[in-house]
Amino acid sequence: MAIKRPGHKDAAAKAKKRERDRTRGSAASRGYGTRHRAVRRGLLAGGVLCVECKRRGMLRGATVFDHIRPFKGDTTLQWDESNRQPLCKQCHDEKTASESGGWGKAR
Ligand SMILES: [Zn+2]
Repeated sequence: MAIKRPGHKDAAAKAKKRERDRTRGSAASRGYGTRHRAVRRGLLAGGVLCVECKRRGMLRGATVFDHIRPFKGDTTLQWDESNRQPLCKQCHDEKTASESGGWGKAR
């Protein structure tokens, strides 16, 4: 009769997950890893203002970094300094909504 050993089972499951992550590509390789976080933290830590609010004559701190042109997997465009702008969440949401043709609804 088999004896259940949850500890061993967990280790095996973890190893399997690691293997899956490796073959599928980790979050980092998909472009949202440490580097993304570091850039975001560095840029937003300095009290950067939302460029869209500034254009409208308001001063609001940026909380997200927006890609002016969607990079769609193009890493050159993704890390291009000139393709980045600081936005507050509200402006970013508005931009995203207008780009996707609705609030997250694909057409
Ligand atoms: Zn804004």
